[in-house]
Order: sequence, then structure tokens, then C-alpha cells
Amino acid sequence: MANQAGPVCRLCRREGTKLFLKGAKCVSNCTFDKRSGLLPGQHGLARRRKPSDYGVQLRAKQRARRLYGVLETQFRRYFERAEASEGVTGTVLLQHLERRLDNVVYRLGFGASRREARQLVSHRHIQVNGRVVNIASAQVRPGDIVEVREKSRKILPVENAQQLLSGGRQSVPDWLSLESEKLRGTVLRLPERQEMESAVDEQLIVEYYSR
Ligand code: SF4
Repeated sequence: MANQAGPVCRLCRREGTKLFLKGAKCVSNCTFDKRSGLLPGQHGLARRRKPSDYGVQLRAKQRARRLYGVLETQFRRYFERAEASEGVTGTVLLQHLERRLDNVVYRLGFGASRREARQLVSHRHIQVNGRVVNIASAQVRPGDIVEVREKSRKILPVENAQQLLSGGRQSVPDWLSLESEKLRGTVLRLPERQEMESAVDEQLIVEYYSR
């Protein structure tokens, strides 16, 4: 991802939570579990000072941004769009993030992480309503059909995903429906708050941008 080049595990340590940026490795061989509580870098052992209100808000924003793999400019744009909408700003912001095509591909289980899902999209393995879409930030709408292209079903990440899906080891949120045999999903409606990332505190993000 454009803003997450280099070692990504340090981002989890920086945010003090597992961001699941490496797919299956995050379950089987996670460095956060071994080094929990340590900040990245040579001063990682240094005692953390009590953060200011601004620091807490900043971390909440960074955590959400890194979780979804979004650049700062684009994240701010999502916030401005959410603020201009009629709904609750924090919830609409999260809906914008959840409706990104790379996130939907991840939620459907076609990619093991958002990072892998983004690659599937940008490498033209995904189509929406029968047409190839290679823009990871494209927003899906209710009724959209998202699927892996027929000719992409033999690539390794997709084969791995299919194994997990057919073994019933992948659950899909209720705002999406999945036909696992066909590697096809449908967007049924917009996600509700409890169906989106629980690790994100959207109120703190609103406070951060409202300073
Ligand atoms: Fe984060 Fe995954 Fe690395 Fe664990 S393995 S620290 S969850 S990116």
C-alpha cells in the first residue's frame, strides 16, 4: 500500500493494537504478541508518557488510517465528505472506509488482508457488475456484485481464499452476501456501526479534525 511500504508490524506496535496487515501471518506468527507494549525503534523500551488529548485523537485517526491503508489526504477527504452529509459524521466516515472496493474484497474473504485485497484489485483480478475495476478506493453501492474474474481463479492467493471459504472458516458481515463457490459477493445495504471496525473510535477522529 502506498503509505505502508516497509515493515508493517511496527505500525501495530506504534498503534498499540493488532492491525492485521499481513493476513494469515497475523494469526500464526505475530510479532505484536511477542513484543506487546513496546513502541517501534531503538527507544521502544522507553516509558510511555501520558498522552495529551491531542495525542489520543491523533492516534485514533492514525490507527483508522493505517487499518484501512488510506493516505492522509484521502482520509481527510472522506472526513470532509462525511461532515457535509446528513448522517452522523463518524458513522458516515466509517461507511466510506468500509465501502472501499479493497475493503469489500477483504470482507468477502477473497484477500487474506486489506493489503492483499488491494493488490487483487490493482492487478485487475476483480470485477464489479461484470466490469474490471482496478481502483482500490472505488466505492461500492447496495446492489453491486463484486467477484473474482474467471481467469484469475487459479492464482495462489485466490486458491488459498477459496479453500478457506469452502471450509466455512470465513464469516462475512450481514451487509454483504457471499456465494463462495462462485467467488462472488453482493452488497445488500450500507453497513451499520456494529458491523464495522470495532478498533476504530470515530468520535476521537471527529474531535481531531474539529480542533
Ligand atoms: Fe500486526 Fe500482523 Fe504484524 Fe501481528 S503479524 S504485528 S497483526 S501486521
